[in-house]
Amino acid sequence: MKELFPVTVKSNNEIAENAFLLKFRRNFTFTAGQVISITLLKNEESRLYSIASGEKHEEIWILYTIKTDGVLTPQLAKAKAGDTIYISKPFGNFICKEERAVWIATGTGIAPFASMFFSGQYHNKKLIQGNRSKQGLYFYEHIKEQMSENYLPCCSREPADGCFTGRVTQYIGENGIPDPGIPYYLCGSAEMVVDVRDLLIKKGVPFQNIQAEIFF
Ligand SMILES: Cc1cc2nc3c(=O)[nH]c(=O)nc-3n(C[C@H](O)[C@H](O)[C@H](O)COP(=O)(O)OP(=O)(O)OC[C@H]3O[C@@H](n4cnc5c(N)ncnc54)[C@H](O)[C@@H]3O)c2cc1C
Repeated sequence: MKELFPVTVKSNNEIAENAFLLKFRRNFTFTAGQVISITLLKNEESRLYSIASGEKHEEIWILYTIKTDGVLTPQLAKAKAGDTIYISKPFGNFICKEERAVWIATGTGIAPFASMFFSGQYHNKKLIQGNRSKQGLYFYEHIKEQMSENYLPCCSREPADGCFTGRVTQYIGENGIPDPGIPYYLCGSAEMVVDVRDLLIKKGVPFQNIQAEIFF
């Protein structure tokens, strides 16, 4: 079990239906794409979360959704400014620095890419982000402003201004991929990662060029 450290919650706001952004002061360094473990009580089983804030931000941001029958998230959503939570040191190697690459995310799977984005690593990237509705395209405004035509938002359940209507797999199926020779980074549910990976392989991307982080 990883060693856990107390931190004080700065804020924990619902930023979209069922989705929260937890913030606390950063007192460690990390590499964009890494995760931390979080628990409310030191001896309870912890859960993993990708850091969503930039490497130089003064705060650590954690983007999460409530799993109504889950152990941690319904309780975590009740945490208030001033409360103590416990976190591990950052770890993980879902890391993409300056290389040309494509990022593909659904739901809270945007978190590691948000961290890379807020760390300034977006200049030679394309980002395909999917969710059911536009309000689930977390960080939409920030990303759109900086990445413009390299940002490809997709809404699967309803048409939305500036977004492709359909799943990320449909977007890729209809629009193709920029270059099968560059790395592809996928983050989200197991179902999304498997479907997108199969599609990318069919389109000529070598298996070893596909890196995936699955939020199980
Ligand atoms: C590398 C990594 C990074 C992650 N990053 C994020 C992130 O940035 N944001 C985010 O929101 N989530 C992230 N997750 C997911 C996160 O770790 C938690 O799994 C999630 O928040 C749910 O936690 P919970 O305690 O509320 O639910 P849990 O108690 O873990 O339950 C989750 C679901 O599984 C079901 N379940 C639980 N136990 C069983 C069982 N024995 N059999 C069948 N079903 C079961 C529950 O009913 C529930 O629907 C990440 C996961 C990984 C692996």
